[in-house]
Amino acid sequence: MSDDPTLLPWLAMPLAQGLALRAHALLLHGPGGVGQFELGLALAAGWLCEAADDASRPCGHCASCRLMATQAHPDFHLLLPEALREPLGWGTAEEGGEGDSGTRAGKSKARPSKEIRVEAVRAAIEWGQRTSSRGRAKVMLIHPAQAMNLIASNALLKTLEEPAGRLRLVLTAHDPEALLPTVRSRCQRLRLELPPWAQSLAWLTARGVARPEVLLAAAGGQPLEAVAMAADGLDGDAWERVPAVVRRGSAAVLADWPLVRLIDALQKLCHDLMCVRAGTPPRYFGLATLSPMTADDSPAWAALAQWASELTLASRHDEHPWHAGLRCDALVGQASRLWQTPRSPAPLRGAPLDTLGAR
Ligand SMILES: [Zn+2]
Repeated sequence: MSDDPTLLPWLAMPLAQGLALRAHALLLHGPGGVGQFELGLALAAGWLCEAADDASRPCGHCASCRLMATQAHPDFHLLLPEALREPLGWGTAEEGGEGDSGTRAGKSKARPSKEIRVEAVRAAIEWGQRTSSRGRAKVMLIHPAQAMNLIASNALLKTLEEPAGRLRLVLTAHDPEALLPTVRSRCQRLRLELPPWAQSLAWLTARGVARPEVLLAAAGGQPLEAVAMAADGLDGDAWERVPAVVRRGSAAVLADWPLVRLIDALQKLCHDLMCVRAGTPPRYFGLATLSPMTADDSPAWAALAQWASELTLASRHDEHPWHAGLRCDALVGQASRLWQTPRSPAPLRGAPLDTLGAR
């Protein structure tokens, strides 16, 4: 098994499983913030590694591994939406690299695309047909596969079915059901599970994340998502304040959160309030943290369901160039109004009210 210290610790086992598979097309799926992209890169490095001992691949030292580490391996091709290049450290969005950059005047001013364009897929297929430069294999990583629209997905089908020479493809998907059935059926699947809680906590602690248990819960147990939240300026204290702040309608406290994060937090809050209503444990917020919203009364189920669908709608427009402050006011106002309409009393289940604190 690879002992690469840069590998996320929970990926060692799935990496060994993936490297052992014979499939020429592999679909990595499961929760998003666990490292599908990182596993895809490690698999590519492993298949391309030139170490004599295949048990230690990827070795991290050979010429091939060094080329992978510097993003310069001629037998590795990455299909990534422009919008993900900078966040993932694979060049800036302006650099493109999808095979179609620079073909449209004024494109650099546009918001980086979240799609993997058909032109990029066609260029990748053409790359796949060339002979391997270093003579071992060729690997194409498509992340995330759902970023390919219908035309791009269809363009890939023949290559997925009969890859030229020693080409291997790795696709990632948060939800395989979002892919074309014809794409899904041509891939062998490898599911990436949530890492063990203690392992994620230890990893977050080693990275200097404060109150990692709060952020890890906030991220639904996905450690990379917890790190992304911390990088966006959220911390455990801020997260725990959300229910009380929303209950009071104090939008100003949340005004500097990125809109995507605010909507995500409200969706998780709504989810947890539904859990409490249903008598099941909340997932993203501690029970005590939710007490300002549930201790005296709680919105009716129908009101929560309505709020959930309004938030889903809001999440589809989270990049609309509305004034972020106004959007924040509107979203928090919408939430706090849930407590201003007549409702039935719903005492918090599972904990005595006087132990809840955090008012
Ligand atoms: Zn190597």
